[in-house]
Amino acid sequence: NDVVTIIGGGLAGCEAAWQCAEQGVAVRLYEMRPVRQTPAHTSDRLAEIVCSNSFKSDEVNTAPHLLKEELRRAGSLLIAVAEATRVPAGAALAIDRERFAAEVTARIAAHPRITVVREEVTTIPREGVTVIATGPLTSDALAAEIQALAGAEQLYFYDAIAPVVDADTINYDIVFRAARYDKGGADYLNCPLDKAQYEAFVEALLTAECVLPKDFESDKANYFEACLPIEVAARRGRDTLRFGPMKPVGLRDPRTGKEPYAAVQLRQENLMADSYSLVGFQNSIKWGAQKKLLQMIPGLEQAEFLKFGQVHRNTYVNGPKLLTPTLQVKHEPRLFFAGQISGVEGYVESLATGLAVGRWTAALIQGRPLLPIPRASAIGSLINYVAHCENNDYQPVNITFALLPPLAETEARMFRHKPERRARQVAVALAEFDQWLTAMGGGIACHAASEA
Ligand code: FAD
Repeated sequence: NDVVTIIGGGLAGCEAAWQCAEQGVAVRLYEMRPVRQTPAHTSDRLAEIVCSNSFKSDEVNTAPHLLKEELRRAGSLLIAVAEATRVPAGAALAIDRERFAAEVTARIAAHPRITVVREEVTTIPREGVTVIATGPLTSDALAAEIQALAGAEQLYFYDAIAPVVDADTINYDIVFRAARYDKGGADYLNCPLDKAQYEAFVEALLTAECVLPKDFESDKANYFEACLPIEVAARRGRDTLRFGPMKPVGLRDPRTGKEPYAAVQLRQENLMADSYSLVGFQNSIKWGAQKKLLQMIPGLEQAEFLKFGQVHRNTYVNGPKLLTPTLQVKHEPRLFFAGQISGVEGYVESLATGLAVGRWTAALIQGRPLLPIPRASAIGSLINYVAHCENNDYQPVNITFALLPPLAETEARMFRHKPERRARQVAVALAEFDQWLTAMGGGIACHAASEA
């Protein structure tokens, strides 16, 4: 059987399917939508982005940029489409989510070696090379199968969605356009709060009615710190939000000429700029109460919300217990995991593991060696974390420099300032990644437009 079965047509599944097919191997890609929906997806499109529309920083010598640069070199379909559908977001790569998903769907459907099957997979296929890329909202039936496969190592935690506001209902007399420290143009809208407004907001937030699960309420839930709901953050201290998503540093309110006491940032959602998301404002407050609360924010008094904040389940396996450095199940190497369910966090991280697994499955079918990705690279360091993290309480991670190996002592002495060290780490990462690519058969040219 020389067809690779990929379960899940999300970010990781689509990138894996594309990479595998481009290496000359046939792929059957299963996607359960629209037959069965998830609590967060809203369309039948492949690679639908469910929350923020940002693929994070694309500023040279940052870790998210390094990850994207490796993906570009390897011919990532999804990064090429992201670039073709980008919307202004300063130094970040943000996308028009509808155009992005439509374009990926068209490219996958048109590939001669990929067959898309719209069906919920409820059992893990008993034979053949298979990739499980069903994401954080894996359907219950398949989650039960994975639990049986992984044993008690299967974990759950909760993740959260930020609200989105209709651009026409924002009060532009109050809200001002600026980026922190004037960095990366002025793509963000900022809602300034003075001390009294901030304190009133926090007070209302602390008493608002939530729909969080009980274990979340107890603050013991296994959720992702970077996606902390605002009400959970506020319970940790009255000033926590002012040092988090409501941080005012680097902003100047043109009406006062001063830095506000706190600020809420709004990020453009699509090319038409008809909607903005409230950055870092994920929450699980009941919708009626949430509307009243968000309308306390200066500039949003009359705001209409296109989407309210929500909290959802996240499913992932215990990578270090279950997976090899090529993301194969240790006791069943024909089975691979990719994407969020493999134990990484984030859109780009998910599709990066999809790219790697797509290459490895093709190699397995074609009888070529499955070479692990060098640890010095961004993708290699992410997968190294998944396979080797020694923490008992395993938590999925985003890419950061902390995952990359530090420079050798002699080099660290040579590059004493942080920016120089970062630049050196990036150069080493890219050189090692290029070597892996060459050994695995090289990068593939990927053009963004469907007619290309
Ligand atoms: P997905 O993109 O979810 O793809 C999985 C696919 O599998 C889906 O299309 C699903 O319908 C399908 N599927 C599930 N079960 C089955 C089955 N049994 N049979 C067939 N198909 C199935 N990351 C960020 O970087 N920024 C964010 O703002 C962000 N917000 C998030 C908000 C929420 C609510 C959640 C749940 C996650 C968020 N993430 C965010 C995390 C993560 O980056 C995304 O979930 C990302 O889409 C993961 O990619 P994936 O390919 O692993 O899964």
